[in-house]
Amino acid sequence: MAKPSNIIELECSACGKKHDPSREQHLCTCGKPLLARYDLRRAAATLTFESLKTRPRTLWRYAEVLPNDPPVSLGEGMTALVHTERLGASMGLKRLYVKDEGLNPTGSFKARGITVAVTRAKQLGAKALAAPTAGNAGGALAAYAAAAGLPAVIVMPADTPYANIMECQAFGAKVVKLNGLISDCGKYVAEHKDGEGWYDVSTLKEPYRVEGKKTMGYELWEQFERKLPDVILYPTGGGVGLIGMCKAFDEMQKMGWIGSERPRMVAVQAEGCAPIVKAWEAHQDSAQFFPNAATIASGLRVPGPLGDHLILSMLRQTNGTAITVTDDEMLQAGRELASLEGIFAAPEGAATVIAARKLAASAWIKPQDTVVLFNTGTGYKYAEAWQRALQFAQTE
Ligand SMILES: *Cc1c(COP(=O)(O)O)cnc(C)c1O
Ligand SMILES: [Zn+2]
Repeated sequence: MAKPSNIIELECSACGKKHDPSREQHLCTCGKPLLARYDLRRAAATLTFESLKTRPRTLWRYAEVLPNDPPVSLGEGMTALVHTERLGASMGLKRLYVKDEGLNPTGSFKARGITVAVTRAKQLGAKALAAPTAGNAGGALAAYAAAAGLPAVIVMPADTPYANIMECQAFGAKVVKLNGLISDCGKYVAEHKDGEGWYDVSTLKEPYRVEGKKTMGYELWEQFERKLPDVILYPTGGGVGLIGMCKAFDEMQKMGWIGSERPRMVAVQAEGCAPIVKAWEAHQDSAQFFPNAATIASGLRVPGPLGDHLILSMLRQTNGTAITVTDDEMLQAGRELASLEGIFAAPEGAATVIAARKLAASAWIKPQDTVVLFNTGTGYKYAEAWQRALQFAQTE
């Protein structure tokens, strides 16, 4: 007999309609993403700070609030939380931390979402996995598909960082390169998936990537010894991590771990692709498609995020904000983070350094605040971008 599922239902994030979690599910009939719901009273009985001490050091340690299928795992999660004192001092912050997600398998936090999505897809009998990607999600999907023994099709813009193309090919995935953006790649997958028999693993078009990414919120609570930081800066493309962490905080409150207080969430975007910042500044509930999206931070090149309404409502609910940085600022900040702290960040991660500096200067972040920057990926995959940065360095 099959084990009863941890997940009692999938609930639409917009209209509230309930969907059966024992079947393959993608978007709600209303077109919006589904979120997994658990029996949190039951989860809280065994998922405790004490019980976590002896569990495996992967994100699967939070078993009660994840799908309970045999995990397709490569050791993802439980990444280092580094107290970056020199960097903090440079902006007047004593408690500045970097959560270094570049340490995950395939070098980015995409591994978190993909381990859970692939685990569930395999359990549901998927024959082939497909996803559009701006870069790192493709590498992660290709790797976890290989680990699951399933074929993968990765659809990416032709100008995706070369390392991402190479890794997908090395993992044995089929790579489709398009002259366009991730939104065009998403359309390609949507148009071909039924005919080809692909299980669509696109961001938020299946309910489990957000489950994997929410574990970043659980880890912060555990690593700060049952407390949450005051401010979290998150480089926002599709916003899955931001949505996931806020979902985790709600679950933690329902389990009695925290009260109603929340870290103030900051969505950091590139000036060349900032649909969320634009909507935030215009006090809108949803975002408009951002035309001519361009940035070296490939993970932020998401002109029309599907979870826009969720991101914006979470920024509002947490008294957060949204802010842009330029590509040149990211490259500069990346060198600063690397040389001051020994962390070689993706430009997306480096973007949070600049954002923190600006928000500290404007006193939106207070000197006594505990602040977490998410370095969402390793800098090692961005050779083309760093080449540009080094050219800058030489002309200084
Ligand atoms: C995908 C990606 C992001 C954006 O993540 P979302 O959760 O989709 O907003 C940020 N940084 C890196 C390195 C990424 O690969
Ligand atoms: Zn709905």
